[in-house]
Amino acid sequence: MRIHHLDCASMCPLARSATNGDGGFFERGAMPAHCLLIETDRHGLVVVDTGFGEADIADPRARLGALFTTLIGVKRGRATSVLGHVKALGLDPNDVRHIIVTHLDLDHAGGLGDFPNAVVHVHANEKEAAYAPTLLERERYKAVHWAHGPKWQTYDATGEPWRGFPAVRQLAGLPPEFLCVPMNGHTRGHWLVAVETKDGPLVHCGDAYFHRGAVEGTKMPWGVAGFETLLAFDRSRIAGNHARLRELAATGSGIRLFSAHDPVELARLQASPT
Ligand SMILES: [Zn+2]
Repeated sequence: MRIHHLDCASMCPLARSATNGDGGFFERGAMPAHCLLIETDRHGLVVVDTGFGEADIADPRARLGALFTTLIGVKRGRATSVLGHVKALGLDPNDVRHIIVTHLDLDHAGGLGDFPNAVVHVHANEKEAAYAPTLLERERYKAVHWAHGPKWQTYDATGEPWRGFPAVRQLAGLPPEFLCVPMNGHTRGHWLVAVETKDGPLVHCGDAYFHRGAVEGTKMPWGVAGFETLLAFDRSRIAGNHARLRELAATGSGIRLFSAHDPVELARLQASPT
């Protein structure tokens, strides 16, 4: 198994000092969409989260909306889709057989259409929210991202716990090294995606937290904390989820957790990939 840590969004939110904790307030910040591309021995390429797709990057305003592109934005000329990374690595896009998404927000599901033949694994509640969003959820989900009719594989029951957490341990067509831990709050059907590697579990926490301070117990920039609260489907769960993630992080020295949007965690994992 070979794991690549990719940024498939290169977002640039307003107010760098408030979102990144460095630089000036009037500078644009840096916010990746941390995705995994995993080369497996027997199951082709597996992708975890897809960031923005080719069409999103070509025309962000039309695909992602004026509100999102004004407040968050995509760094011109810098964003690369999963598909772009796959090609740059000399791999075959047709080998992407499975995509596991932590949730279906526009910055996680944008690349689904670039791999129309892949099976897309998602929590059943998340798919339900994406297809029938409430008024408040409409800005976060973009129907254009699943207009091609993905091969959805949904799950709503958990099985044997994993490290004390309720988990979905058997993803259809994937080996037991891939499993998911439901953790809603950011969205209705958000879950963590864990991959057991020879060096220990690697856990893609999606948007269950935004800044490493939530898991490391250090201070979070106020802007990113406010942003996390603003975007949550159920705000009352944020602090509890952070506490559960700290518990999970404490279950073993080899376990590595990361958020979809922390640039420092991305750089660390890119420097020492599994
Ligand atoms: Zn996100």
